[in-house]
Amino acid sequence: MRRYAQRTAGMTASEIRALFSVASRPEVVSLAGGMPYLAALPLDSLSAEVGQLIAEDGLVALQYGSAQGIPELREQICEIMALEGISAHPDDVVVTVGSQMALDMVTRIFCDPGDVVLAEGPSYVGALGSFAAYQAQVVHVTMDEHGLVPSALREALASVAASGRRVKFLYTIPNFQNPAGVTLAVERRAEVLEICAQHGVLVVEDNPYGLLGFDGQIYPALRSLDADNVVYLGSFSKTFASGLRVGWVLAPHAVREKLVLAAESATLCPPTMNQLMVSRYLATHDWKGQIKTYREAYRERRDAMLSALDQYMPAGCTWTKPDGGFYVWVTVPEGVNTKAMLPRAVTQRVAYASGTGFYADRLGSRQMRLSYCYPTPERIREGVRRLANVLGDELEL
Ligand code: PMP
Repeated sequence: MRRYAQRTAGMTASEIRALFSVASRPEVVSLAGGMPYLAALPLDSLSAEVGQLIAEDGLVALQYGSAQGIPELREQICEIMALEGISAHPDDVVVTVGSQMALDMVTRIFCDPGDVVLAEGPSYVGALGSFAAYQAQVVHVTMDEHGLVPSALREALASVAASGRRVKFLYTIPNFQNPAGVTLAVERRAEVLEICAQHGVLVVEDNPYGLLGFDGQIYPALRSLDADNVVYLGSFSKTFASGLRVGWVLAPHAVREKLVLAAESATLCPPTMNQLMVSRYLATHDWKGQIKTYREAYRERRDAMLSALDQYMPAGCTWTKPDGGFYVWVTVPEGVNTKAMLPRAVTQRVAYASGTGFYADRLGSRQMRLSYCYPTPERIREGVRRLANVLGDELEL
């Protein structure tokens, strides 16, 4: 008798999480994880805020709440989304335990085993994990430096149709993509939406980094261009605090109803305390100023990484040049396998995320993702220098 459900076969350890314990040793410069730079937060005033929250509103904060999330936070979320041109009603927002829960719920309500999800190649590890857990098949769509390539999207749709399978949705991270660091060109956005609408394919827009453009630029959300066919995922993880695990999903009415049912069965309700904490923070703190502080810190770190890459990397390596977000995507010369090289890099006290984890089909062995969000600029330079040495040795072998 088989003990575990078949779907557990698709649940594999993320290469990045498996690396966490080694990569977090102090002597290792970790360019592997995507941990936000929380030291930029005003911890003293947040601590006072938590105390006040319990004192003034403790019996609500510590109680169960509605599965959809507390109404005042959903209103504030609508104001945030308005910055990206989205006009939404709080009734269509569901608060989630981070975007990760939204990814899980969206996959749960749409995908039967064998259904196809289209996703950029490479794509976000956590999303690929959710798709695998529900036995959906991922078909990757090519990107270039301007994001998803519309003609490649058309081809992917045609080839899936020819194979007799069903595409349930396109999963896309249009802004400062994880892991590639590229942004979907504004001119392509309407075209991508049009292709999906023509084929009856829903778009799932995952946008945790949209407000972290280094020049303060904010791109129009796909949801702002098509309210009927886009499910939008947002998160406070990168703009405020990842450990609070507060995110949200904005969905067309009918989809939202299914999501609330899925949320009820998963968690009963998102944590009231954390939602109230976020809501009070938005009401009492200069949250836009905080996002600016984050942006400036990440910009400095991005600059440190790009200049170190220029200075140290061996000939034949190429990389993307993000103008927001957390990540640079590096391609190394033929003959180097970034997954095989990783243990040697860790011995040389530098860690990165090998490209293979970002593809469902294990492509990516000549790529790696470098994150500049967490280490200081000095550590980033040192990490890139060490990485370049490892690569140099590798190329000489
Ligand atoms: N989507 C993407 C593209 C991400 O990079 C991340 C976090 N690394 C998430 C979703 C998950 O965010 P959350 O902390 O809100 O679950």
